[in-house]
Amino acid sequence: MLFDNHGRKINYLRLAVTDRCNLRCFYCMPENGIKYIDRNDLLTFEEMTRLITVFGDLGISKIRITGGEPFIRKGIMNFLEDISQLDTIEEINVTTNGSFTIDHIPHLEKMGIKSINLSLDSLDKQRFFDITRRDLFDDVMATYRALVRSKMKLKINMVVMEGRNIEDIYPMLELAKKDDVSIRFIEEMPFNGTKGQGNQSFWSMKQILAHIQKKYQFKKLIDPVSSTSINYQINGFEGSFGIIAAFTRTFCGSCNRIRLTPQGSMRTCLYSNGGINFRDILRSGATDGQLADHLKTLLNQRAKDGFEAEEKRHLNNPISESMATIGG
Ligand code: SAM
Ligand code: SF4
Repeated sequence: MLFDNHGRKINYLRLAVTDRCNLRCFYCMPENGIKYIDRNDLLTFEEMTRLITVFGDLGISKIRITGGEPFIRKGIMNFLEDISQLDTIEEINVTTNGSFTIDHIPHLEKMGIKSINLSLDSLDKQRFFDITRRDLFDDVMATYRALVRSKMKLKINMVVMEGRNIEDIYPMLELAKKDDVSIRFIEEMPFNGTKGQGNQSFWSMKQILAHIQKKYQFKKLIDPVSSTSINYQINGFEGSFGIIAAFTRTFCGSCNRIRLTPQGSMRTCLYSNGGINFRDILRSGATDGQLADHLKTLLNQRAKDGFEAEEKRHLNNPISESMATIGG
């Protein structure tokens, strides 16, 4: 089993398989002028599989595939098929914008993908367009309906933003009346790929909860171990909702996750700078034992929480990257 220098068990890897995306959610990327990572600098699927195999032997048992938009990368389905067959990996989950996920659903189900997180920030076509800058609302909603019918667990990720989608909070909750879906309201973080202009439309967890309380009665659910969301259920509803305090960072004390960026940089905290680049180490011919040692070294230097991680990077490298290069 893997532990960090604060005694937290680490068993969860979030892997961003690409930084490319067909949407331009304003809180994640600027509309124009994005410099994508050179293709040769991306980890190949073979390299990712090797890293997952080594990390799996150390204690990583849960993987989330994210991006950029994971289904944009050619070969993603074969890669998922390969890692779904590793004995050490007990759970694979995928986060997607749903714009061209629908055709893959039967295959994802068949290979045993446990859950899909669908990003959906508005149930109004115009507001969806204003946020994502792309006219793909109908495709995403078709994916939503197909996912509700599938065997995979479905969660909706909605970033809550003043002046953007506050009026969507109640309709979004109404989805959980009949559908077995978990609606997760996320605090906006400053990772929008522009320097110093992050999360001006920020709504805190407290504000979100107070807003929901004005209309609904709900009970607290027992949160899964290391959950980032605090979860609730509205009386009589089939599904549930949760709030993720991604900016106020209330969950760092039990954080079990590490992140690998599309170019192989390992982040032991969302708010940290990239630590060691595993692509470079792999390409220099490292053995499995050396890869394992590098991961252990990083975990021995892990910040105690997102505030400490951010403080450490602040002087020479304030947050300016896009979430698409980290994976969320
Ligand atoms: N493209 C896929 C998608 O949108 O689901 C996967 C990658 S996306 C970076 C992963 C998650 O990060 C999405 O749910 C998105 O809403 C969230 N995200 C992106 N930028 C964010 C920000 N600045 N603050 C909070 N969440 C953000
Ligand atoms: Fe693309 Fe996801 Fe970022 Fe939106 S949040 S721009 S869908 S990577």
